[in-house]
Amino acid sequence: MRFTKNFIPTLKEIPADAVIPSHVLMIRSGMVRMLSAGIYSFLPLGYKIVRKISDIIREEMNAIGGQEFHFPGLNPKEIWDATGRVEAFGDILFHIKNREYVLAPTHEEIVAFHAKGAVTSYKELPQIWYQIQTKFRNEPRPRSGVIRGRQFLMKDAYTLDKDFEGLDVGYAKHDMAYRKIFDRCRLKYFVVGASSGAMGGSKSEEFMVKSDAGEDTIAYCEKCGYAANVEVAQSVAKSATRHSESKSYYEISTPNVKSIDELCAFLKIDEHETAKSRIYIHYGKPVLVLMLGNDEVNETKLGSLLGGNVRPAHPEELKEISGADAGSIGPIGFKNRIIADKLLKEGNNLYSGANKNDYHIGGIDLKRDVPNIEYADLRTVENGESCVRCSSTLEVFKAIELGHIFKLGTKYSEALGVNYLDENGKEHPIVMGSYGIGVERIFACYIEQNYDDKGIIWKKPLAPFDIHLIGLNMKNGLVADTSNKLYDDLQKEGFEVLYDDRNDVSAGVKFNDADLLGMPVQVIVGEKNLKDGKVELKLRVTNEKSILELSGLIKKLKEQN
Ligand code: ATP
Ligand code: MG
Repeated sequence: MRFTKNFIPTLKEIPADAVIPSHVLMIRSGMVRMLSAGIYSFLPLGYKIVRKISDIIREEMNAIGGQEFHFPGLNPKEIWDATGRVEAFGDILFHIKNREYVLAPTHEEIVAFHAKGAVTSYKELPQIWYQIQTKFRNEPRPRSGVIRGRQFLMKDAYTLDKDFEGLDVGYAKHDMAYRKIFDRCRLKYFVVGASSGAMGGSKSEEFMVKSDAGEDTIAYCEKCGYAANVEVAQSVAKSATRHSESKSYYEISTPNVKSIDELCAFLKIDEHETAKSRIYIHYGKPVLVLMLGNDEVNETKLGSLLGGNVRPAHPEELKEISGADAGSIGPIGFKNRIIADKLLKEGNNLYSGANKNDYHIGGIDLKRDVPNIEYADLRTVENGESCVRCSSTLEVFKAIELGHIFKLGTKYSEALGVNYLDENGKEHPIVMGSYGIGVERIFACYIEQNYDDKGIIWKKPLAPFDIHLIGLNMKNGLVADTSNKLYDDLQKEGFEVLYDDRNDVSAGVKFNDADLLGMPVQVIVGEKNLKDGKVELKLRVTNEKSILELSGLIKKLKEQN
């Protein structure tokens, strides 16, 4: 690819709206341009990388028996209503005005639609269907460049199986294929247990890259390898205090005491002697959730436990439900369902709200005093707590999700009536799995892990070109002729070459662009070295330079490749 015949608009300045390195570098290197918030165009150089990533994904999907499809992005809304996902996706779903269409944010429904009545016998199962296609999601906060876009490229795959054993096999195949894909893209990643969220279904795992720009948080144990999204992660943490002598409960006047910290200061107690109350509404019914001390409710865990629609009660609803405002609510006398975090299970002489403003109750033993109380793990793991598997210290950090594999089960096949007949002619719903990878996220995360102050550092196989050939002063006949010939010769030898053949920019601009674009090897053709029959070679990874005979260049490059 010649610079002079291609559109590679590199920029010197850092774009104003870009914060994270991959976003800055993708714009500066002329790989992407923003059209509107969360909507990006890929320019030729950037799109070349998208294709390289897509090819790797395609090869690994084909290797596990995947069949490539192309489903439409424009979907009749009706089919999304049938599974209840117009409501489940809410504002994320793009609707076409005045028409009953939506823009597909994923394709479970469409896969189920095409399987219905077409895959009807056990003999036709299993199937692995996949595509690499544009998805649309009206993300409320598009950010970090292509990492969270409103339109993005996803590899989505779906397995169709007879039963859950079949699903386990399909799931394991995807797990393996994903590891190969991310390994081949040379990414450092973690595989973590995750929540199934709006997708529904049972087991799910995410492939994550550690990054401060990430919007997910994961807990990781270096010693045993335990890794989980904090939405589901567990830990061993200090539980509620158990005193040898158990008191009966009693009311205490606590004027203006609202928070756990204020309560601890007022009564001179430790937060491990307190139970904090939060009220949620589950299908119109209040549920009191009790947490130890200052622990916050992990709403994903609560959502998975209760199932369906859960929301925090509004401040103005609290008094009617409990008799008190926030800060004075508690389990004693609370008339509805109560669920306590399991750290509270063994505690006694606990303090909590009295369901009466400006009063608390002490001496609570939940097991004794609250009939029908339920216990569940409802807290969020914190950095430094102990690993549930090996008791070693957990590290909690931000991460970007690259891919997600889900065991869906029969949610979609049941909603849409997708059945097959078994050996005995009996009808069953097809068991489904769903597996996604964000193609642009691979692109951006690769850069997040491979850059320096000068620019991107591409390594094979994602490098858009093997060699960046620079003709330094193209007005010099010998430099131009030699560079032109080298460009042809290198391509004949099978190298992919980006050729800076511009004659209207300085050597400095060319060097800066070469470092910014980051091809693995730079070959620099300059007047001075040419006089001695030599050219300069620079390796982008180490920035190591060497001068070598032009005649030995191709041999050397082949060794390097
Ligand atoms: P997130 O939690 O980041 O919103 P998700 O759980 O909604 O992701 P999935 O529905 O599982 O994502 O989609 C599969 C893959 O598609 C993700 O693992 C991610 O790589 C990619 N992806 C999801 N949303 C976006 C987006 N808005 N922009 C770019 N890629 C995305
Ligand atoms: Mg999402």
